[in-house]
Amino acid sequence: MKIVLATSNKGKVREIVELLHDREVFPYTDLMEGFEIVEDGETFAANALIKARAVYAALGDADAVVIADDSGISVDALGGEPGIYSARYGGENATDKDNLNKLVEALRAKGIGESKAHYTAAIAVVSREGERCVHGWMHGRVITAPRGENGFGYDPMFIPEGFGQTLGELPDDVKKGLSHRSQALSLAKILIDQIKFLRR
Ligand code: IMP
Repeated sequence: MKIVLATSNKGKVREIVELLHDREVFPYTDLMEGFEIVEDGETFAANALIKARAVYAALGDADAVVIADDSGISVDALGGEPGIYSARYGGENATDKDNLNKLVEALRAKGIGESKAHYTAAIAVVSREGERCVHGWMHGRVITAPRGENGFGYDPMFIPEGFGQTLGELPDDVKKGLSHRSQALSLAKILIDQIKFLRR
C-alpha cells in the first residue's frame, strides 16, 4: 500500500518518514511535479484535508493513501497567533527564519519575554475508503531569545512543558517522543491499519 505525503516541507517529511519508518512512504513530489495548493481553510483540520484531497486527486492513483499534515504554533500572549498562519507569518514567501524572527519581534513589541504556547498538528488521511482527520498537541512556552539548531521552524524558541531547553537544543529523539506530529501520527497509523485491514 503506497502512502503518499502531501507536503514538500523538508522538516515535516524528515519527521514523518522517521515516525512511519515501518511503512513505504513517499513525498508526493517524488511521484509528480509539485504544485501550489491554496490553504484557505479556517482550521488546521480543514487545511490538512484540502492538501490531502488535492494530492489524492492529482495523483490519479485510486489505491494511494494520502496523508497531509497541517500544523502551527499558537501563542497565548498573542491571542493564539500565528496559529493556522504559522507558515506565512513573516509574509507570503517567508522562510522559517523570517517567521521565527517575526514571532520574536511580535512578543518583544509587547514587552513580553516569554509566553505559554502550544503546537497543533492535524493529519488528514484520504483514500478510496474516505476522509479522516486526527490531531496532536504539544504544550510549552516560547522565549524571545532562540537557542539551538535542531528541529525546524519555531523550534529554537519553543520549550516543551517539563524541560528547560528549547526544541532547537534538545535531541531529535526527545521531540519525537513528545511532539504534536508524533501524537497525531500514532492516531493516523491506526487509520492506515484500518484501511489495510479493509483491503485484505
Ligand atoms: P504548514 O506546512 O502550512 O502546515 O505550516 C506549518 C508551519 O508551522 C511550519 O512552516 C512551521 O513554521 C510551523 N511548525 C509546524 N510544526 C512545527 C514543528 O514541529 N516545529 C517548528 N515549527 C513547526
